[in-house]
Amino acid sequence: MADVIVLGAGMVGLSVAIHLQRRGRAVLLLDRREPGYETSYGNAGIIQTEAVRPYRFPRDLPTLLGVAGNRRVDARYHWRALPGLAPALARYWWHSAPARYRGLAAQYATLIRRAQAEHAELIAASGAGDLVQRRGYYKLYRDPAALAAALADAEQVRAEYGIPHGALDAAQVARLEPDLRVAVAGALHWPEPWTVRDPAALAAAYARYFVSLGGSLVRGDAASLRRQGSGWRVETRDGPAEAASAVIALGPWAGEATRRLGYRLPLFVKRGYHMHYRPAGSAGLGNWLYDADNYYLITPMAQGIRLTTGAEFAALAAPPTPGQLVAAERIARALFPLGERVDAAPWLGARPCTPDMKPVIGPAPCHDGLWFAFGHGHHGFTLGPISGRLLAERMVGAADPADLAPFGAERFLRQPPNGAVAGRRRARG
Ligand SMILES: Cc1cc2nc3c(=O)[nH]c(=O)nc-3n(C[C@H](O)[C@H](O)[C@H](O)COP(=O)(O)OP(=O)(O)OC[C@H]3O[C@@H](n4cnc5c(N)ncnc54)[C@H](O)[C@@H]3O)c2cc1C
Repeated sequence: MADVIVLGAGMVGLSVAIHLQRRGRAVLLLDRREPGYETSYGNAGIIQTEAVRPYRFPRDLPTLLGVAGNRRVDARYHWRALPGLAPALARYWWHSAPARYRGLAAQYATLIRRAQAEHAELIAASGAGDLVQRRGYYKLYRDPAALAAALADAEQVRAEYGIPHGALDAAQVARLEPDLRVAVAGALHWPEPWTVRDPAALAAAYARYFVSLGGSLVRGDAASLRRQGSGWRVETRDGPAEAASAVIALGPWAGEATRRLGYRLPLFVKRGYHMHYRPAGSAGLGNWLYDADNYYLITPMAQGIRLTTGAEFAALAAPPTPGQLVAAERIARALFPLGERVDAAPWLGARPCTPDMKPVIGPAPCHDGLWFAFGHGHHGFTLGPISGRLLAERMVGAADPADLAPFGAERFLRQPPNGAVAGRRRARG
């Protein structure tokens, strides 16, 4: 019998499972498909040490009006999803006010600043170093004033958090990426982040490492999670499994899993698309490039040049509406030679978001032996390993309580969920 069932084998669930297994807990990691094949597959693959400030809700009128027009490249929405999203988005807007946002960003930064060291250790342990490029990424600007503003902002990040950056002029950018078709004003270089040329392969390496530690990886449906005596039970393809504890690490699907248990957490998703293209230039794409004027990335992935889009506010299960990808692709083709599309259809994923931009990591407030690790938004690929360490330490009673205090689910609860018994909580791994 396992000690802990971890539900969801994305970057977050895998990391929780590894850290628990390392601490002597027998872990059963359950997913309905291969590990790392949902959001942790389709992202831009950046381990983002510079992302100390989470993405806030825009509060200036021109941006808000632009978003309302629903034709921007960075953010679009489904009209019919708005009534359901409104309460969470209103809270997102509220938390994005400058004074509140400063406090939240300071808490967020405590995770981000430890994230790369945690990946470094797992990358070494899982023998995945060949997937990782360690020279940062570039933000391109066409407008000199926008570049100057970005550099000034980066200078503030350096002063506050000690994160280095560099500046490239137009000629340096042209030398960096000889195939670029547009003469940009210059680029902001974040040299510290790492980039991964196949995020799903990194997840697969972590999964193999978890199994080598003695962990069990099984297929099954997390919706089968039930109370069993004082513990938890799920149905797997190999039959029922029970454990004293369970962890919900279901990324964008955490909302439906926690609702089933009676929680009403204000979770929402920002969907995103990607497409791969055959390289069409002579030099190829050497670096991760963010088109800062148009809010998409082009990245040299194992599968081809991957273009990833900004945010689409829509229901998780709504049919794809990849107009945003089409708009970004048109601009990207003018910027860089992209050949034919590689994938038959655009990939669609969903960033699992919370209104205060912080993930939920810690005990379930109203269920003994149940733990949460989700809501990592734009940076879950970066934050998986540090979240896994902190949650595992907390579960085995080896944590500094201050580490996880800002990330508990209690911050969203006014009253215990329907049908849940608010009882004394103990750390049981
Ligand atoms: C376009 C895009 C670009 C991004 N770029 C970056 C980036 O560069 N850097 C970064 O740090 N982050 C990035 N992100 C965010 C990042 O990808 C996510 O935050 C992260 O992958 C979330 O990981 P997770 O483990 O929480 O969720 P997931 O990876 O989605 O894992 C959840 C798992 O739960 C499983 N599951 C769901 N329901 C069930 C069920 N009923 N039964 C069993 N299993 C179930 C799924 O199969 C899945 O494997 C990006 C996201 C998008 C969409």
